[in-house]
Amino acid sequence: MTRRDFLRLSAASTVGLRASSSPFMNLTAKTHIVTLSFDDGFKKSFYEVADVYESFGLRACLNVIALGHEQDFRPTVNGQPDAGIVPFPKGDWSDWNKLRKRGHEVMAHTYDHSNLTTLPLDEAKEKIVQCAKAFETHLEGFKASESVYNFAYNASTPELDAFALTQFLVVRTQGNSPVNPIPARRRPVRIGCYSHGPDSCDSFFEEELNKFLAGPGGWFVMNTHGLDSEGWGPMSTSYLRSTLARLSKMSHVEVLPAGEVVLRLKA
Ligand SMILES: [Zn+2]
Repeated sequence: MTRRDFLRLSAASTVGLRASSSPFMNLTAKTHIVTLSFDDGFKKSFYEVADVYESFGLRACLNVIALGHEQDFRPTVNGQPDAGIVPFPKGDWSDWNKLRKRGHEVMAHTYDHSNLTTLPLDEAKEKIVQCAKAFETHLEGFKASESVYNFAYNASTPELDAFALTQFLVVRTQGNSPVNPIPARRRPVRIGCYSHGPDSCDSFFEEELNKFLAGPGGWFVMNTHGLDSEGWGPMSTSYLRSTLARLSKMSHVEVLPAGEVVLRLKA
């Protein structure tokens, strides 16, 4: 058994023990789900995020761009190269298959990082279909119908959300709040999130997380990118580590990747 397997198994048995040993269900009910959804597929950061999650026996939520590793991949914002993505090395399918084998969730963050709201609707739909095909071709065991589609820039419309949900099980886009209802059934679902940049997202995240933890519960989804100096609105590794340590000690909180929240449910 590797250290990783041991951590995963010991975390699972701890949860099981807590749930079965307490006669007071309200003390162990998981009323608050926290998802940190990492975008853009930065090679260095994504391996580091995976390592930090594994040290707590948790699975990371990693979202990558189908064309992200291509030499000529240069996403643009308002006609300029996207400074949050272009300068940083991205991983490729081999990296993403390795991280999936380690137990992490690797989901779709678009075909080529286009802001689909700026394209004609038919063209935008075609990009979603291309994205599903690319991931199913290159990522072992990936099925779009059991996966999450994470819009670039969290930019979508009701038409795009509805179309993406004909291809994928979950879509993640901009929310009016980062808190979503916890779904009860495995059905197509749109989740809203917050993100923050271009500088460190630590303080913003901390404030929103504390509001959520003080509230009645739900599914908190925060979109972030790389670690430390990598990507738009990066989170510091030390903050990620201390936050997971804090959340792991809370018996009413679960830290889960987005897909698992829906995939673990009955249809
Ligand atoms: Zn992105």
